[in-house]
Amino acid sequence: MNIANWLYQTALSWPSRPALYEGDSLRQTYHALLQATCDRAAWMQAVHGIEKGDRVAIFAKNTPEYIELLHACWWLGAVVVPVNCKLHPREAEWIIRDSGAALTLTESGRVFADRPDIREVALGSPVAGTKEIVPPARVGDRDLAWLFYTSGTTGTPKGVMLSHDNLRHMTLCYALDVDTARPEDHMLYAAPMSHGAGLYMFAQIRAGGAHLVPASHGFDSDEIIALAKTRGNLVFFAAPTMVKRLIATAKQQGHDGTGFRTIIYGGGPMYAHDIDEALACFGPRFVQIYGQGETPMTISVLPRDLVADQSHPRWRARRASVGIAQGAVTLAVLGPDGTALPPGHTGEICVQGPTVMTGYWRNEAASAQALQDGWLRTGDLGHLDEDGFLYLTDRSKDVIISGGTNIYPREVEEALLAHPAVFEIAVIGEPEPDWGEQVVAYIVFEPGKSASVPELDSWCRQQIAAFKRPKRYLFVEELPKNSYGKVLKSDLRSGKGAATATA
Ligand code: AMP
Repeated sequence: MNIANWLYQTALSWPSRPALYEGDSLRQTYHALLQATCDRAAWMQAVHGIEKGDRVAIFAKNTPEYIELLHACWWLGAVVVPVNCKLHPREAEWIIRDSGAALTLTESGRVFADRPDIREVALGSPVAGTKEIVPPARVGDRDLAWLFYTSGTTGTPKGVMLSHDNLRHMTLCYALDVDTARPEDHMLYAAPMSHGAGLYMFAQIRAGGAHLVPASHGFDSDEIIALAKTRGNLVFFAAPTMVKRLIATAKQQGHDGTGFRTIIYGGGPMYAHDIDEALACFGPRFVQIYGQGETPMTISVLPRDLVADQSHPRWRARRASVGIAQGAVTLAVLGPDGTALPPGHTGEICVQGPTVMTGYWRNEAASAQALQDGWLRTGDLGHLDEDGFLYLTDRSKDVIISGGTNIYPREVEEALLAHPAVFEIAVIGEPEPDWGEQVVAYIVFEPGKSASVPELDSWCRQQIAAFKRPKRYLFVEELPKNSYGKVLKSDLRSGKGAATATA
């Protein structure tokens, strides 16, 4: 089943319902959204030759056109490649090339102007109104719908292959475990639509409820509180950092959460103090999810009443957990030999179910590593309790999660190692109250050489996206290593390596 069928059916059933707001302005009814989608699909096909199975990349901030663009691709049976708008154009270029995108849509249409082999157009390019409404192309359940690029520990991004069936089951889990989508709700896109927020649009489409792209096209607490007052019934996905900022602003304004229906948080650790404060300010409006691109938004859930509960003898521990397995998946914590560990024992979190990716795009080695014996190996470490609640204890991958966005140390390390004065480097994340974690670089210089912090910072700016730059540098004589010569990042994290720090 084509995931775009839901938009088609909803628009035929309730054509005059509001579909899309930009800020407070109504941009499209469901009929207008359907017409725009069909027009856009016809344009992609006629002008750009897009056909079933072709990849179309979208490298843009959240825009009112996003839902229409995604659906126009699926209308043709094409595969969307939404690229994180915060990436450096060089990083986006890598993804565009790896996916073999036949077309790239950007806001200006000129991001890759000096790369004539990349076929790029502005996403708002005018298209001829055909007045013709056609149903979406027929596709197989396992046909690809979304290539979701996630960085690997090696620093090379990998394209997670998500099928129409994966997205359908993810949405069924949403309806079963996360929230009931209602026509009177407004699904707000405060977090990037290239990631979890965009993945969560489908239940709302099926229910015929409205979508709301903030006028700022990003996350702005003041704007969101204003929208809660004017539009009301806001539902949205937010990284823990965003929740923390929203609550701080709400407290300043004396806002009690009226107008917010559900805030779904996840994508990174939520500190106990922060969720306690959020509940005290807004009441039971929060649901936690734990997922990863490889099984999008669908590993576990801590439903609204369990987030807010204070009656169970272990409610405190439960609130700090990532909840219970979502309805469509089987969860297990496996030991190194692949056997399931009993409650209380820490191992790798593994998942089975119809939400799990079909593999990584053109990367059989990585697919075979992630998908073993019918399990998705998440690379996250944790344990279950007797009641099936999952506790995330650590990440076996060294990923740093800052503001809900993953930063892969190896990528930062490689950028800095290219600097002529840098001899050795180790990048880790350290806890930081606002962002969850921040990037810290431990650097050993080449003998007789050195570089200042501003120099290293501007070096990074030329190589990688700004949000991946280290926020703190420590210049050390040597890095702690084990007997095999491997850098002991665990020592750095626990402060042992800092003993030799010189700056
Ligand atoms: P991504 O594939 O970019 O969505 O990143 C997924 C990773 O984010 C997971 O493997 C976890 O390490 C982390 N993560 C996701 N949700 C949560 C959560 N609720 N609590 C803590 N970490 C999370």
